[in-house]
Amino acid sequence: MSALKDRIAQFRKMSTDDPDNELGHFRLGQLLMEDGQIDEAVASFRRTLELEPNFSKVYQLLGEALIHLDRTAEATETLTKGYTVAHGRGDKMPRDEMGKLLVKLGQPLPQVETAAAEEEDTIGPGGTGFKCKRPVCPYGKRARGLMNPPIPDAIGKRIFDEICADCWNDWFKNQSIKVINELRLDLSTDFGQGEYDKYMRDFFGFEEATPATATTSLNVTEGGTPPAQG
Ligand SMILES: [Zn+2]
Repeated sequence: MSALKDRIAQFRKMSTDDPDNELGHFRLGQLLMEDGQIDEAVASFRRTLELEPNFSKVYQLLGEALIHLDRTAEATETLTKGYTVAHGRGDKMPRDEMGKLLVKLGQPLPQVETAAAEEEDTIGPGGTGFKCKRPVCPYGKRARGLMNPPIPDAIGKRIFDEICADCWNDWFKNQSIKVINELRLDLSTDFGQGEYDKYMRDFFGFEEATPATATTSLNVTEGGTPPAQG
């Protein structure tokens, strides 16, 4: 089996063993897309949204999958709903991507309120002033920032800047252990560490653009021997 098929099997098992875990279905959907199993990916993304209707990025991926399958009516419905959800949560990147797809489909953008309201809900009575950027943060205006970056690297810094303390704790105390156990990740390997990081980025809603964490892999290239002359 290829590495991709292995991972699909792993996540399929995870989403069967822990059927209410939206991230398992989400990751499975992404891998199925990568493997060209678009119909199957659609089912996984739909399940993800049943579990977590505020996961704005998933509407985008589901919309893309449906466009791929020429199911444009369903794609339009998904993207229209997703655009509104993403806007309401301040998830600008997926919102704008879905906007572009709707334009391509020749569809109007849904009417949404302007951005001022969403900034305000972190201040005012009961607000902490901290806006957690995790797409499905359940803490809203009660979100509190962390005291320090929880891990000493670039992604730790990003978590400190963008993610609330309760979401971090939810990851650290619940999800991360589940992920390691259910995927049987060996964190001493690059593969295990990579899968773990990927899952953590999904949990926090980080796009791939997170800067590389370290430069430890920059080994000196094999030098010394000049190329042989023919
Ligand atoms: Zn949060």
